[in-house]
Amino acid sequence: MSGRTTEMEVGTNASAPQRRDETQQKLRMKRLGMASVSYMVTLSLVASFYYQSLIPLSLVFVFLSLSILLNASFFLVFHLNLNLRYKDPSLTLAQIVASLVPPLIVMYYLDAGQARAILLLIAVVPALYGILALNTRQFIYAVVIMVGSYLIVLACLWSNRPEALAGTLEYVQLFTLIVVLTQVALIGGYINSLRKRIRDRNLALNTAMEELNEALAVIRDMANRDDLTGLFNRRHLFDVLTKEVNRYQRVPGPFSVCMMDVDHFKLVNDIHGHQAGDHVLREVAANVQKQIRSIDCIGRWGGEEFLLVLPQTSIAGAVIKAERIRSSIEALRFPQIGEDFRVTVSLGVAEYHGDTGIEQTMALADAALYQAKSAGRNRVVSIDPTETAGAASMTAS
Ligand code: GH3
Ligand code: MG
Ligand code: MG
Repeated sequence: MSGRTTEMEVGTNASAPQRRDETQQKLRMKRLGMASVSYMVTLSLVASFYYQSLIPLSLVFVFLSLSILLNASFFLVFHLNLNLRYKDPSLTLAQIVASLVPPLIVMYYLDAGQARAILLLIAVVPALYGILALNTRQFIYAVVIMVGSYLIVLACLWSNRPEALAGTLEYVQLFTLIVVLTQVALIGGYINSLRKRIRDRNLALNTAMEELNEALAVIRDMANRDDLTGLFNRRHLFDVLTKEVNRYQRVPGPFSVCMMDVDHFKLVNDIHGHQAGDHVLREVAANVQKQIRSIDCIGRWGGEEFLLVLPQTSIAGAVIKAERIRSSIEALRFPQIGEDFRVTVSLGVAEYHGDTGIEQTMALADAALYQAKSAGRNRVVSIDPTETAGAASMTAS
């Protein structure tokens, strides 16, 4: 409670980039699953060719085996993170090209030109996956590869089985393929650029949100701090007291408060000046801050008065702590003000008791401080209401 606390993410060992990589890999696996479904849909089309006696059954099995082999290979590559070595870890272009192989083989064995045209429609599907990753230039590459591979099939047919070619119709089909794929590439590239713009904007928005949250945390912390000493201010001390009282109600356990006041501080200002007085307040604050546990809290209650909240501490423990603070302030030196310059503090200690309320505890600490002042200052006085008639005990300087 005493120091500035920062909230840290706990419970995970993975760094943020590592987690991002894992999420991306999961996404790639999901897309691969979608691609497998596309293969199966095309398989049903190929099977229908078999039922129409356009191709032999063996070709359906070739298509199926190749589909399984290709998908399994990509699955393995993603599973082993081998794809992370490449510039586009989604391997979009490779997947598009791979997905062309099974239909192109079927196309080669198709005798009917129209059936080949139907299968060509399927070529648009892998191109659609490109929208997820390819920019216009990469899209054009993909189209060139797609058209090129189809040209190879046509060339093989022309040299090996020219009777399977449908004359002029083949030119029309080829031209249609080029026109459709080019448009898919242009529109797809445009959609992808929009996607990228949205992603960049989201990223910028997230960064701005993070910066805003950091700034808010700083502002919140500043609002809880005293400008002069850097300790918590009175407002935050009230919050700390309320939290302690709430905690006591859940899990009863001792907690004490300790009111500390610099002795004859007005004289410091009067003799050495206000700046010297400020310096003394800062030094006293830093000295106490150094001595307390992380669960303790010290704040400036006002003027030259400080409040210490000591959780899990009974009055006896609080008195020991207060006495240690008193003697260390007494030993504090202020070379900037003067070799012989010293200050002392008086402290009033009280323990919280659920039945009396925190206002009563604070009043007791105040009363104890008043007694310490009356008894000559530079001492610790505690008042324990559970002892007979709220007896005060004193540790003298
Ligand atoms: P006592 O031992 O009874 O506490 O006497 P005191 O002089 O310390 O108490 P008093 O309440 O008479 O004087 C407190 C002084 O603290 C008066 C005020 O000007 C000074 N003071 C309060 N806040 C600041 C501050 O931020 N800086 C400086 N330099 N002085 C302050
Ligand atoms: Mg004082
Ligand atoms: Mg005072």
